[in-house]
Amino acid sequence: MKIISINAGSSSLKFSLFEMDNEQLIASGLFQRIGMNNSNYIIKFNGQKISQEVEMNDHTDAFNILIDKLVSLNIINSLDEIDGIGHRLVHGKDKYSSSVIITDEVIEDLLNFTDYAPLHNPANVLGIKACQEVFPNKIMVGVFDTAFHQSMSEINYLYAIPNEWYENYGVRKYGFHGTSHRYIADFLSNKLERDDLKIINCHIGNGGSICAIKNGKCINTTMGFTPLSGIMMGTRSGDVDPSIIPYVMEKEGMNASEVIDNLNKVSGLLGVSEKYSDMRDIIDGMNNGDSKCRLAFEKYCRSVTNFIASYYVELEGADIISFTAGVGENSSPFRKKVCENLACLGIKIDEEKNNVMGDFAKISTDDSKVEVYVVPTNEELLIARDTLKFINK
Ligand code: ADP
Repeated sequence: MKIISINAGSSSLKFSLFEMDNEQLIASGLFQRIGMNNSNYIIKFNGQKISQEVEMNDHTDAFNILIDKLVSLNIINSLDEIDGIGHRLVHGKDKYSSSVIITDEVIEDLLNFTDYAPLHNPANVLGIKACQEVFPNKIMVGVFDTAFHQSMSEINYLYAIPNEWYENYGVRKYGFHGTSHRYIADFLSNKLERDDLKIINCHIGNGGSICAIKNGKCINTTMGFTPLSGIMMGTRSGDVDPSIIPYVMEKEGMNASEVIDNLNKVSGLLGVSEKYSDMRDIIDGMNNGDSKCRLAFEKYCRSVTNFIASYYVELEGADIISFTAGVGENSSPFRKKVCENLACLGIKIDEEKNNVMGDFAKISTDDSKVEVYVVPTNEELLIARDTLKFINK
């Protein structure tokens, strides 16, 4: 049984092909600059990597090349071997709380929810439509980034704003990275053979969010109406006082979208350090005595610490704090600092075990009051698993 997970952007297409009998990744790759000059693809399989520049006018071209290559590289014998396709979808508003078979209604909803994810939802639809052309009659399943967070209570998803903004325009917390948070919750529940865990999962990549999870369900999360809010990130500010926006508009002669663009693209680690958005560069800079890099690092860790502490109280204690995604899986200085900040909760990490990069590991000491884990995320596999569930129905 083979399933492809697809993540379509406006000019890109990422894919992962899984053999679901053993959940092995058989091939993965990226088609980029679709519809632009110098469009190209990279395909990885069997320890090899091939790349080529090739003209791709649209996503349909990319899918056709993908099929051609999978067959000519002997990764599959024919299209018939693909049993289903799972699509990563971004915004399902408050209508979708779990994965669904993609129907015309789902496509229409994605387009109707464009206001909530202007870049992503139309790109997801491009990907679906192209895929339907190239793979007619295959089961297609949509897995929404927002779905996992639909279990939040009103107390957590409502903002303290005029209620008609919520009623009329859907202004509320939606949350993102839901597929990753759910993958980690499932993984830990299976590993520890417990479905009653209280987990504070920290998905810390270039973008980042933290999720409070109880009995496998999301209780609260840091991203909000958009992915801009919550913790400080690589280039995003995280939470700021909204009055900053009209103030900077006036001072800089910018419009509101320009200020928001700055809060998304040149803030966070990049804004504070004035140099880098990548945690590796920040840590190198700090180790070389750069005081702005140190400030950026410490502010970033403080921001993560404060949300963990808040969720610890909200969950009435926690069994597990888990770290995932680029920074969470790979940066031992980051994890060490966050856990040191949490020492008053009885959290202790083992410095040697904390040296892990990109592998599952328990990094807390045996006498730590909360177990701390590093868990590599795998959103693509969860999308394939959800697709398999529909095929098996
Ligand atoms: P995205 O949010 O784009 O999906 P990722 O989860 O891939 O991001 O994370 C990318 C980020 O991970 C990089 O910007 C970098 O800051 C960080 N990162 C990757 N490897 C390391 C490492 N070895 N040490 C520290 N940070 C790392």
